[in-house]
Amino acid sequence: MWLPSVSFVLLCMLQLATCTEDFYKLLGIDKQASERDIKRAYRTLSKKYHPDKNPSNETAKQKFVEVAEAYEALSDPESRKIYDQYGHEGLKQRSQGGGQHGHDPFDLFSRFFGGGGHFGHQPGQRRGPDMEVRVGVPLRDFYNGHQTEFQLEKQQICEECEGSGSADGQVDQCHSCGGHGIKIQKHMLAPGIFQQVQVTCDVCGGQGKTIKHKCPVCEGSRVVRKVSTFQLNIERGAPKGMRIKYENDADESPDYVAGDLLVTLSEKEASLEEDNEGRVDGTFFRRKGDDLFWKEVISLREAWMGGWTRNLTHLDGHIVALSRPRGAVIQPGLVERVQGEGMPKWHEDGDSVYHTTEFGDLLVEYTVILPDQMDSGMEKDFWALWEKWRKKSGVDLQKDSGRPEGPVKMPVKDEL
Ligand SMILES: [Zn+2]
Ligand SMILES: [Zn+2]
Repeated sequence: MWLPSVSFVLLCMLQLATCTEDFYKLLGIDKQASERDIKRAYRTLSKKYHPDKNPSNETAKQKFVEVAEAYEALSDPESRKIYDQYGHEGLKQRSQGGGQHGHDPFDLFSRFFGGGGHFGHQPGQRRGPDMEVRVGVPLRDFYNGHQTEFQLEKQQICEECEGSGSADGQVDQCHSCGGHGIKIQKHMLAPGIFQQVQVTCDVCGGQGKTIKHKCPVCEGSRVVRKVSTFQLNIERGAPKGMRIKYENDADESPDYVAGDLLVTLSEKEASLEEDNEGRVDGTFFRRKGDDLFWKEVISLREAWMGGWTRNLTHLDGHIVALSRPRGAVIQPGLVERVQGEGMPKWHEDGDSVYHTTEFGDLLVEYTVILPDQMDSGMEKDFWALWEKWRKKSGVDLQKDSGRPEGPVKMPVKDEL
């Protein structure tokens, strides 16, 4: 009696294996999705689940295959109609009836991304150049961390013709060069003396292929220049000049595997007009490594007499209170180190139970401003006060400096 139960288990497993997820759900699109949406979804997901990017991850590999299946089914209007009406069962019957079936998911991938359907360095496979860009990031985002995006124009494989360059998908071998892209020409240098020269085929431009009906979007060039949006995750305390690698996101071509896009984070200078909303002092802090710098202006009275407070607003809005009790003098140019109010120190692993964020310091430099105008009554009062205290305990800096009273006669050197 144990045989049937084993076959029952087997049946269940088969059921599981064949019971694929809804194609629309799999691609993260709805039933009204346009052809473009389907392509976009495929582009994103196939890259995400590509086995090269998920080594020894069986789930990702499975997803990669499923995403390709879903794309194949939904990108063809006829099979999409069948799928919409009869679901997976309908497609299965159609493929048994001789319809298209069993595409290699790597083939499909290479139609979108060029190369042999793989990332990285496959032997004998060409790789396109890397691309470098700088993205300006305000200091605030370096301090707090920020999830943002940026846009970049780059070369992409034409979605319309999937990189074939042809409107009808038909590409012929060039009749002029026989598909080699090059031709051998004979030049006569002198009577009877010939030189053989290899030249690029002028008919196909070295492609070895000709297209009768060119794709209307890329005009047969197989690629288009288009603006793409990239997600950018700026980690808290990320160092200036940090480089973030987007694998295989450089210019695409059907002839090679796209190189990497390398994004360098640079600090965007804060502008008084644009970034002064909310009057956050931190916006104008200057950064050097993990430390922040700020100039605070104080009056002569404050510098001399003390008895003041200042509330600096930091980059996340919290307050850093500076103060001096009465009688505490600040010399012009004094630099005060406020510990722990600098940048968060960037750590590879971010925050974790093993590690909490440490901070650099905030260095506040005091600039003392002297009044350049005084009420005449006030001037008299101050003068009198100075005179009184100068006589009692004042010092004469000229007298105390030890400088000579009059001009000094410099010794004249004897002539040799
Ligand atoms: Zn040719
Ligand atoms: Zn095209």
